[in-house]
Amino acid sequence: MPLEIAVASGKGGVGKSTVSSTIAIALSRAGRDVIAVDADADAPNLHLVLGVDRWDREIPHSGARVARVVDDLCTGCGACAQVCPYDAVRVLGDGRYWISPVLCEGCATCGLACPVKGAIVREEVTEGRIRVARTRYGFQLVSAALDPGRPNTGKLVTEEKDLARRMAGEDSVIVLDSAAGIGCQVVSSLAGSHIAVLVTEPTPAGFANMRRAHTLTKHFMMPAAVVINKFDLNPGVTSEIESYARENGMEVLGRIPYDDSVPRSMVMMMPHIEAFPDSEAAKALMGIGNRVVEIARDWKGWWFEHRPRKIEPYKPVIISPRRVKR
Ligand code: SF4
Ligand code: SF4
Repeated sequence: MPLEIAVASGKGGVGKSTVSSTIAIALSRAGRDVIAVDADADAPNLHLVLGVDRWDREIPHSGARVARVVDDLCTGCGACAQVCPYDAVRVLGDGRYWISPVLCEGCATCGLACPVKGAIVREEVTEGRIRVARTRYGFQLVSAALDPGRPNTGKLVTEEKDLARRMAGEDSVIVLDSAAGIGCQVVSSLAGSHIAVLVTEPTPAGFANMRRAHTLTKHFMMPAAVVINKFDLNPGVTSEIESYARENGMEVLGRIPYDDSVPRSMVMMMPHIEAFPDSEAAKALMGIGNRVVEIARDWKGWWFEHRPRKIEPYKPVIISPRRVKR
């Protein structure tokens, strides 16, 4: 069974792609068969970090459905416009009803409200592409790009993971660079993965968002490890993060110092460890990558030692409209 490592953060811009690319390169240098997956279909950027500028394969992805008014049958009663929760139905200058394919979420409410059978149809549309390229570091990258205005990003990430799993061998390692936040894309990248690496910065917002991402990993009974980026900018919060990690059985894989050469490597479209291998940040990153290589050698033992001790399913707060006091 291939090992799946999901790099997540709960907050954007904390260095997730820098850490993901380092882990993928370190594993590849150690002789592991690696497949990197950019699991941020809204704003993919791992290909930029890895210097990929052309794709070997592009697979159109469809699945989303949007509604369309059939002009010949529509009587112009306006019921669809009244019920659409996304305000996607418009009346054109000539009085025809039209549904914006960008605003429509395909919920089918208009079709239920329409009194004329067949006047509204739902049609499948292309919602994005899954791309595959071999990086100059020897391993393959799977990346997705969602078309503007299309929903179903979580579904697209699931399709990417399924493709990576089909490409992987028994001993491969799949490294997923998750999206920011804790939304459907992150849920899709964590589901079925074995290890989460949570990247954070020592700011109150970074720490709070890391804890939110940790809640999700506990929901999936996944062991999580921590990387603290720019740890030296706020020693107080760094020490709070380390205490939190200790109390929750999370290994701190490493601390990366602030280094102004990191943004310069992004401009160069190179992983930081390749662009500035002698920088302090690159040394810390390689320490993290090498630690993941060690863990990957016997990941089941590490998993057993660090897994959550009890199931902590996330319980969403459901607000019933009837209970909301006006
Ligand atoms: S399918 Fe839903 S979102 Fe699309 S037009 Fe109909 S009611 Fe609006
Ligand atoms: S509800 Fe049906 S008939 Fe009425 S305006 Fe919309 S598409 Fe036309």
